Amino acid sequence: MTIRVRFAPSPTGMLHIGSVRTALFNFLFARHHGGEFLLRIEDTDTTRSTPEATQVIFDVLEWLDLTPDQPPVFQSTRYVRHREVAEAMIAAGTAYRCYCSREELAAMRAEADAAKKPFRYDSSWRDRDASEAPPGVDPVIRLKAPRSGETIVHDKVKGEVRVRNAELDDMILIRSDGTPTYLHAVVVDDHDMAITHVIRGDDHLTNTFRQAQIYDAMGWTRPAFAHLPLIHGPDGGKLSKRHGAVSTMQFRDEGYLPEALCNYLLRLGWGHGDSEILSRDDQIKLFDLEGVGRGAAKMDYAKLLQVNAVWVRAAEPDRLTKLVIERIEATLGAKIGTVAAGRIAQMMPRLQERSRTIAELAESSMFLVHEVPLPFTEKAAAMITEEARDDMSAMLLDFARTDYTAPALHAAMVAYAAASGKKLGKVAEPLRAALTGSTTSPPIDAVMAALGRIEVEHRIFATLAD
Ligand code: GLU
Repeated sequence: MTIRVRFAPSPTGMLHIGSVRTALFNFLFARHHGGEFLLRIEDTDTTRSTPEATQVIFDVLEWLDLTPDQPPVFQSTRYVRHREVAEAMIAAGTAYRCYCSREELAAMRAEADAAKKPFRYDSSWRDRDASEAPPGVDPVIRLKAPRSGETIVHDKVKGEVRVRNAELDDMILIRSDGTPTYLHAVVVDDHDMAITHVIRGDDHLTNTFRQAQIYDAMGWTRPAFAHLPLIHGPDGGKLSKRHGAVSTMQFRDEGYLPEALCNYLLRLGWGHGDSEILSRDDQIKLFDLEGVGRGAAKMDYAKLLQVNAVWVRAAEPDRLTKLVIERIEATLGAKIGTVAAGRIAQMMPRLQERSRTIAELAESSMFLVHEVPLPFTEKAAAMITEEARDDMSAMLLDFARTDYTAPALHAAMVAYAAASGKKLGKVAEPLRAALTGSTTSPPIDAVMAALGRIEVEHRIFATLAD
């Protein structure tokens, strides 16, 4: 049997980080078993579904490298098939047309409310003949749900879950306007797409009983179900914007790397011993449903930042350079030119060691882009004393005699400090301030090598003249 799983988001807004974790688990499960990962856009709620939200789904999956194996299925294109299955159920005696009017249903609901009982449709049309249908009422199609016994689901995460059938009423499959309900459409689509495992958030667990009844009514084999515990906020409550980012693209905007986000989301709710940092290959090799935790996972933004820092350090410098330049240009609203771009590329291996996000990397690369006069932090400005000016002008000559490589510049600085009886830091710190406008940067010899002689002299002269 080929394993086939699907990610089935509704395009009704931003893509929540919890949904992305569902996509990731489906993807890894498919890859682990050499199966297929499919995408279905559940756009049946026409009032809330938008093309923009659909595009966000495509963009996020592409960004996270969770590309589906086939073109997406749009649920709204399948109404005819959804109706066809409901008609087949009527023919088989497992569904029926219900002509209850709005008023009758409202009366049933009011009665249930008054008795403080959950509303359940009274099945009055279950055994009535269509010839008794009142004029002017467009019927809905309802499932002839089993009345006795239990519906049992063997969930791969939750274990065995069951409900007494007496608690479930005859659910609507097709509305009076001919559109399918979500519960019905999902079952028909999963069946037609030959889905073997439905892996989704456990907010859908109660739907599973009703969906199982539809499979049973059609005589279709049910897929295996695995319901993933939800992601909660750091305080244990529902994860919401007040905790920080919840929309996946916001994590990208804040400078997270896709591999870091996937790595973190995988570990949030799935474990394999103590391994924290796992490559995509390792994830595919190790992923299984047995490792999915039973309890809700708590989003830990500090941990995510740590994981991101690890992946920033491990990333190819050229890739980071590209991301950083894109970010800086977007902020400036202008191209930065090839000279600054070259400096960033040269410094990247040093910069990436000390940044946790692409945003931090961009921030710490700005001194390579700025032109004289540089913006100075207050602390950096305070470093430019008379003594510092003297040291810098003396060292400029020493530097000019080197080939401007980092080791040669370092040696010149060490020699100057020794000859003038000063600590290395005492002569290097003002240089850092003059060249970067800041008191923190990668090693100053590497900074000078990246800026090159002309720019170093330009920046130091500007400081001396100030
Ligand atoms: N469309 C549903 C949602 O976005 C998911 C349905 C499913 O996975 O069965 O929550």
